[in-house]
Amino acid sequence: MAELGCPHSTSTVRLRMIDTTAVMVVNAKFFIEPVQKGHEQLNLYVAAFLIEHPPSGRKIMFDLGVRKDYWKLPAGLQKRLGFIIPGLRVDRDATEILEEKGVGLGDISSVIWSHYHWDHTGSMELFPSSTELVVGPGFKTSPILLPGFPHNADSPINAAAIQERKLTEIGDDGFQLEIGGFRAHDFFEDGSFYLLDTPGHCVGHMCGLARTTGGPGSTFVLLGGDICHFPGVFRPYAKTPLPDTIPDGLLDEDGYFPIPCPSSLFEDRHPQRPRNEDREASSIDTKTTPFYRISTDESTAYTDVPAAHTSVHKLVDFDACPSVLVCLAHDETMLKKLPTFNEDPEDDLNDWKQRGYKKKIQWGWLNDLSRSGRTGRPAAVEGFWKDGLPWPEGKEVLRKNGESASKLSL
Ligand SMILES: [Zn+2]
Repeated sequence: MAELGCPHSTSTVRLRMIDTTAVMVVNAKFFIEPVQKGHEQLNLYVAAFLIEHPPSGRKIMFDLGVRKDYWKLPAGLQKRLGFIIPGLRVDRDATEILEEKGVGLGDISSVIWSHYHWDHTGSMELFPSSTELVVGPGFKTSPILLPGFPHNADSPINAAAIQERKLTEIGDDGFQLEIGGFRAHDFFEDGSFYLLDTPGHCVGHMCGLARTTGGPGSTFVLLGGDICHFPGVFRPYAKTPLPDTIPDGLLDEDGYFPIPCPSSLFEDRHPQRPRNEDREASSIDTKTTPFYRISTDESTAYTDVPAAHTSVHKLVDFDACPSVLVCLAHDETMLKKLPTFNEDPEDDLNDWKQRGYKKKIQWGWLNDLSRSGRTGRPAAVEGFWKDGLPWPEGKEVLRKNGESASKLSL
């Protein structure tokens, strides 16, 4: 990490990953390009993180996932869900998961929102007023957010989530350091946990950088939020090329992939590879070129595409570093392969390097790619769900609840 300019410290945080149980299907073209036949939709699972700072005894959350009762989101968001999202299911609320495992909401001194979008902000209003809410640069001055719904009919933030609690924005003067080219804020002022200013997706987007082991040779987990939504947007790259053979155990054993599986199976259908007679002359190295790019569609989910490109470019330097594990909020492989607070509340991610987690999750996204033009993995959820059951009338309810909004909120 020295090469990324991270200061030295012996202080660490304890990092645990929560499977928020939210799963949704979204239209790939808003997130990645070029969209491939058989990969027109993305399955997005949603992780949140419980962070404990032993010196102070403080516990904080980085993101909360989707609130279980998503039919209580602000009107503009319900409108969006009713018209744009093909499927959404949330079985448990992150607050329930915490409490069930013995962490009271009053024990959480701060909740950090990587950004203000509904699939990260959870049921903030359930936290007591003693819990601080931390947001990124530009949040307080953004005309679309405050004072929140219903005071502002189109706000994507519920006013109840922010009122009567300390709302802290890490503003320009809060980012005193620079790590890996990102402006950085030292959250506990001891080098154990940083917030990184990572623009592109929306106003105030921040990543977290948790020091998981300290001293010389420190290790880190980068909590990526939505710096991008699919690992194939930045992998593979020159320092971490696609291996000739995909290591055993990473691909679905459903009869499609040969064992062992040569990487040519994927390289031959690399989306950046020209589709004409110039193929052989193409200078694209399919082992070191990311499969996708950030969407530039007119309805792209990135408010500043050039800034998002720059952020993803810098992210590669973190991913290439052997002492950093990159965890995007919506990476399905991470949630399936790494220990979660839900299953084993005492197991944390701090010894990720020793346990080889990076290799376990690096190439899992290959499973989602189109398989000879057919869908890689089926839709993770169809339609809307409520209380663990299909909710056929959900779409109509959401659209009706959203009628009072003049537009679709993001
Ligand atoms: Zn998200």
